Amino acid sequence: MVSEDVRVYEGRTKILYNTADPDLYRLYFKDEATAFGERRGTIADKGIYNTQISATLFDLLSTAGIPNHYVEKIGDRELLVRRLNMFPFTFVARNVVAGGLAARLGLEEGLQLIEPVLECYYKREELGHPLLNESHLNALGFIPPGRLQTCSILALQTNLLLKNYFAHRRLLLVDFKLEFGWAADDKILLGDEISPDTCRLWDVGTGKKLDKDRFRWDMGGVEEAYREVVARLLD
Ligand code: UDP
Repeated sequence: MVSEDVRVYEGRTKILYNTADPDLYRLYFKDEATAFGERRGTIADKGIYNTQISATLFDLLSTAGIPNHYVEKIGDRELLVRRLNMFPFTFVARNVVAGGLAARLGLEEGLQLIEPVLECYYKREELGHPLLNESHLNALGFIPPGRLQTCSILALQTNLLLKNYFAHRRLLLVDFKLEFGWAADDKILLGDEISPDTCRLWDVGTGKKLDKDRFRWDMGGVEEAYREVVARLLD
């Protein structure tokens, strides 16, 4: 670590450091994992795997012209990223019914959706991350009129790119979370991470879960699942 770098934010799974350049942050990935607000644990080397996976996937998105915060991988557990002012809400893109959607609508996990579903959630853990619709986002001034559509298009394009990329590696992209933010030049960039912490990934042949659900539901084989995803991406 460079000594003058100051910790600007520490979350449960990542730490953000300032750098000498006011436009750049270092994003450090920890091994800690949390689920349902209360389950806490450590997944050995998860930080290393998620750094590698995020770098690979942001690289893919950059090549395809999806604007994002990724600059370069600068260590086993660190990405250099553009500084963003994050939106107060997240997006979730879904291709297959699972998790919260299955629970909310009483649907079977694994049901193939006719088209991708895009949702927004308020980033307020103490409220249980409530679902927001377009009217909420506009009425609360969470995003200027017109920019929501820009983000929705970027989210759907990202979903398509990742879905195809994973499919070539025999992984089904069930759903994933996206976070956008404002860069200094007022551009909207995709930020945060893209990893098995934030995506549901199932083996195409067996349906085996290769993501954080193994930790959430205490299914065992958590490290192996993350390692398997890295191996398939780097193959
Ligand atoms: N997700 C996430 N962070 C959150 C909530 C969800 O990364 O705070 C991801 C999650 O890993 C899954 C997708 O977003 O890939 C959809 O999650 P869902 O709404 O089904 O909620 P969950 O079942 O994770 O509570």
